[in-house]
Amino acid sequence: MAEPAAPRKTDIGPPQYDQFLHPVIKKNYGKWKYHEILKPGVMVHVSETGDKIYSIRVGSPRLISVDVIRMFADMADKYCDGYLRFTSRNNVEFLTDKEGNIDPLIKDIQANGFPVGGTGNSISNIIHTQGWVHCHSAATDVSGVVKATMDDLYEYFVEMKLPHKIKIAAACCLNMCGAVHCSDIAILGIHRRPPQIDDAQVSNVCEIPTTVSSCPTAAIRPTTVEGKQTVKVDGDRCMFCANCYTVCPAMPIADPLNDGISIWVGGKVSNARSEPMFTKLAVPFIPNNPPRWPEVTEAIKKIVEVYAAGAQRYERLGEWIDRIGWPQFFDLTGFEFTKYHIDDFRHAGETFHRSAQIKFK
Ligand code: SF4
Ligand code: SF4
Repeated sequence: MAEPAAPRKTDIGPPQYDQFLHPVIKKNYGKWKYHEILKPGVMVHVSETGDKIYSIRVGSPRLISVDVIRMFADMADKYCDGYLRFTSRNNVEFLTDKEGNIDPLIKDIQANGFPVGGTGNSISNIIHTQGWVHCHSAATDVSGVVKATMDDLYEYFVEMKLPHKIKIAAACCLNMCGAVHCSDIAILGIHRRPPQIDDAQVSNVCEIPTTVSSCPTAAIRPTTVEGKQTVKVDGDRCMFCANCYTVCPAMPIADPLNDGISIWVGGKVSNARSEPMFTKLAVPFIPNNPPRWPEVTEAIKKIVEVYAAGAQRYERLGEWIDRIGWPQFFDLTGFEFTKYHIDDFRHAGETFHRSAQIKFK
């Protein structure tokens, strides 16, 4: 049998995770018997040793100031022996083994203007990508869209009144660094025009073979313009993914008039009752409308409301749509069914759009 890895001799890479674990978690590693939700935002994990650890989930707007991080750290020191963690959904989870600290912590957190919730049959924070603040290929500012959306869905974060959980993801381009393909509701930034090519600059700032091979649809070809080596794009093949712009800054794709947001629904990774599902298109395009994106938040709230009114207990959003049929979904939401909903992708024969199983009223 292979020997266990020797202790590290350098500090290269992330530090060993177990030095940050709460002592109760460390002591009961691999011994957890069950967990349950005590009230919105509060969970208890119970070990076979009888030990308990409570986690209190707090929503954050993700882009937070140093002052807010200090406030969270002070709360963790005061109530949780300094233990908290930031989740991939940008929640802050406080960890304590002292049940009596839960309510005072919640009171303090709420007094500072932050909500407690996001557990069970609720909408947890939105997992999302960078947006205009960080990434070069963004078609929208997901940070702003996410903040505006969660402000509108606040009641669904702090209460557990939905038929089942709703997971929302947002990505600012179709490279989808967020989990938009497998979430109940997905907000996806989209470009709608091929990149603009600065022929005079391509050979100065880009490697042409790398640029050609960066395109997943083989839409880019080398060419010569006025004696200079450059590239051309076959617009019919381009899916506006911005991969080429990642390797070639002389091919910008951002376009204020044509960039915007699409909304997708019905994905999930769970296989508890039915197999995992991919999201499908609900709204093909909504123009960017910062700073509050009212058309996007209104569409998402509509989806949540019709799902909440019509789904059975423990039915995920995609399962509910499958049961009632897509025509009914479009009727209930009032979304227009357009030519963009027709899937002419090569593998479309395996999807509902060209399936004999589609249900018509
Ligand atoms: S989804 Fe696209 S634009 Fe957003 S961070 Fe990822 S690559 Fe960048
Ligand atoms: S945007 Fe994507 S699909 Fe279009 S040319 Fe660039 S790499 Fe190819």
